[in-house]
Amino acid sequence: MVISVAEPETVYVKTTKVSCDGGEGALGHPRVYLNMGDHGMVECPYCDRRFILGGGPKDMRGQAD
Ligand SMILES: [Zn+2]
Repeated sequence: MVISVAEPETVYVKTTKVSCDGGEGALGHPRVYLNMGDHGMVECPYCDRRFILGGGPKDMRGQAD
């Protein structure tokens, strides 16, 4: 099993306000709180993790149901 650390992780969430602490390992960082506003998406400035609002304008997964 190969784990790529170069590709930013995409996390689907249910609220426009999220918190991120980078998770485990080398990417960990102080916990920050991010607000998507109307964009439906926000990227963590520390670890580049991308948070997307499920069912929002940036949710490209198809049908939410
Ligand atoms: Zn982060």
